[in-house]
Amino acid sequence: MHRQITPSEHSMLPAQSPPAFAWEAWYQSIGGRSIHISEVDEILRQIKELQYPRFVGTVNPHVTTFASMAEASEAIKAKAFELGAGEVGIAEIEPTDIYQGRRVYEKYAIVVGQQMLWRQFQNVPSHDSAVECLRVYYTLGETVIQLAEFIRSLGYPCVVEHPIGDSDVLHVPLALKAGFGELGRHGSIIHPRMGPMFRLGSVITDMPLQLDHPIDAGIAAFCDKCKACRIYCPAKAIPDHRSPEAGKDHLGNDRYVVDTGRCFPYFAKHNYCSICLPVCVYHHKEWARDFAGYKTKLFPDIDLQEPPAPVDPVIAKHWYPKLNR
Ligand code: SF4
Ligand code: SF4
Repeated sequence: MHRQITPSEHSMLPAQSPPAFAWEAWYQSIGGRSIHISEVDEILRQIKELQYPRFVGTVNPHVTTFASMAEASEAIKAKAFELGAGEVGIAEIEPTDIYQGRRVYEKYAIVVGQQMLWRQFQNVPSHDSAVECLRVYYTLGETVIQLAEFIRSLGYPCVVEHPIGDSDVLHVPLALKAGFGELGRHGSIIHPRMGPMFRLGSVITDMPLQLDHPIDAGIAAFCDKCKACRIYCPAKAIPDHRSPEAGKDHLGNDRYVVDTGRCFPYFAKHNYCSICLPVCVYHHKEWARDFAGYKTKLFPDIDLQEPPAPVDPVIAKHWYPKLNR
């Protein structure tokens, strides 16, 4: 059973948790990073200086009660959409959703997704696609920080799990449980409406909420026939077949396992790569629509470079638990 954590305990959490992920050591372990974009560095600075200090806050001692958990969830979701969420769902946190060594006391994750702009992925990888990844990390960060402030104003403690870097929970399995979509061959979630080009962040809390459920929209079955991402992956990191030894996804399918020892070195040298996302053909014409009226292509121009040597094993990587639901 989950114990309600007090605000003073919350303020101690960063000190109790292991140190932040050593990104520089990680980049060195995969042969170094050659992405130097001033806009990216500026957004990273803003996230660190303007957003990190707002991860914790004061909880209103007057607790707002709701008639039911469904009503509470509805209020939280409405606020998340008002704050710019493209999708929001609620899942219960299980031990397999927590990074090794991290402590999570909360029961629920409110998972929030925000779409990246298709118009910035007309050429990949590129300066524009790299900046767009970071831009959404920032704007989605604002959404989850302000959603956390709203939850505290209702009298419930909560913790921000920012979309970038060093979170305590794994957003992807939580989002799958929260009904965001299905896991594509390229290792990213494909949402039936937003496609694969979105980022994830979460707020975790013990506030009593109604859970959402995984969906079966036929996406995984489509992936079994389509190999577009695999064909265009310059590092040959996307698999031909599912891997029974990697455990099951939420629909009971064996998982596709992306070879991170091939992907990460390429990603670190080529503007965060991301080729596998805009080439994904699932429901392509719908999610790629630009409702602001910008003229866009239906398929991006792709810059394929010779991949660096695979790094195996990747040293100092995050530990991902085996999924067996
Ligand atoms: S990010 Fe690039 S290298 Fe990595 S899996 Fe996608 S296409 Fe392949
Ligand atoms: S490109 Fe095709 S195989 Fe790859 S994730 Fe998208 S739908 Fe699945």
